[in-house]
Amino acid sequence: MKRIAVLGSTGSIGVNALDVLRHLASECRVSGLSARSNWRLLEEQAREFRPARVAVSDPGARAELGGRLNGTTIHADPAEIAAHDDVDVVLCAITGAAGLAPGLAALGAGKTLALANKESLVAAGPLMIEAARRGGGRIVPVDSEHNAVFQAMRSGRHEEVRRIVLTASGGPFRDTPLEALAEATVEQALKHPTWNMGAKITIDSATMFNKALEIVEARWLFDVDPSKIEVVIHPQSIVHSIVEFADGSMIAQMGVPDMRTPIQYAITHPQRLAGLARPLDLVAAGALTFRAPDLEKFPSLEMGWRAARAGGTMGAVMNAANEAAVALFLDRRIPFPRIFQLVRAVMDRHELVAEPTLDDVRKADAWARSEVRCSTS
Ligand code: NDP
Repeated sequence: MKRIAVLGSTGSIGVNALDVLRHLASECRVSGLSARSNWRLLEEQAREFRPARVAVSDPGARAELGGRLNGTTIHADPAEIAAHDDVDVVLCAITGAAGLAPGLAALGAGKTLALANKESLVAAGPLMIEAARRGGGRIVPVDSEHNAVFQAMRSGRHEEVRRIVLTASGGPFRDTPLEALAEATVEQALKHPTWNMGAKITIDSATMFNKALEIVEARWLFDVDPSKIEVVIHPQSIVHSIVEFADGSMIAQMGVPDMRTPIQYAITHPQRLAGLARPLDLVAAGALTFRAPDLEKFPSLEMGWRAARAGGTMGAVMNAANEAAVALFLDRRIPFPRIFQLVRAVMDRHELVAEPTLDDVRKADAWARSEVRCSTS
């Protein structure tokens, strides 16, 4: 039995992960769960899966849950669950830079980190890789694109990789003219054409900062030069990403857009078991189309390549500035295109630390958030 901790279990990925774990009940056992504040859903999940421990970051929510779960230890910090002896695989589905500490704790303790939380790799890729090397842990990506690349990489050796092609749905504003973006509302930005996800990543898809984060994520996960990472718009979201090898062969992973497939593979890897997603009917799917992204409409993509090339603290700065700007947009305090301007301005002002410590990463993150807040207050 593999013992799994699902961090961020009350979110979109977390709920899908528990669906997978219900399905894998004869192979896996849930040993830990965590949430920030949604203690009601966490309580329900804990009653069903009976984990030894749960973590609730919000003190008020933790107090509400206290005493309601007999036989379950309640922690404040998800990192305590991530590093615990009774866990083999940590699925980190916390949103934002808050996923970094539990991710590092899991890798340092030699766990397999099934990583949905791309922001931690963007903020501190080299520190995560080093933590894995020293602690004996490993990262298996859950993000559908990187999970696809991870699978395709099995077809060749690292030095045979010519390029990685990340596919992107293009989000809700794929076909919206540039001039109309100034008027884009929160409701429009939250309407994703193919994926049903949490609010922050849905806005990231609308700005295409999601793909910018994924460029940096791929750079660290697969140790490739950013010039070898391409992005193509693929509105059907059926080809989840592609690796091109030296001989020109392109190996793609395909399937219906359903996060339960990459979540399950990240847990069972290197084994493949029957999954929950409906099979892909290629004839019904019809045409699969690809086109170049509009770099003028989505300047986020250039920022992604720039952060990947710069390395050091630039990823942490891009990520934190974006998180702060997205929060302001969701609060209706800034218009949609201001997200691009704010992130770029903070990246322009940043003094890079080329080989950062965790403390440097945290400082860069805090600095970027305060810069965004100051420029809008
Ligand atoms: P949600 O917003 O739906 O869920 C986030 C989860 O993390 C919730 O359980 C939430 O708890 C918890 N959480 C949020 N902030 C904190 C914090 N500061 N400390 C501790 N726990 C916290 O997000 P998603 O499930 O959409 O995304 C999760 C991660 O997966 C993100 O990094 C995203 O980029 C990535 N991802 C998501 C995909 C998707 O399809 N949704 C696809 C690929 C990647 P609570 O409910 O109590 O607030």
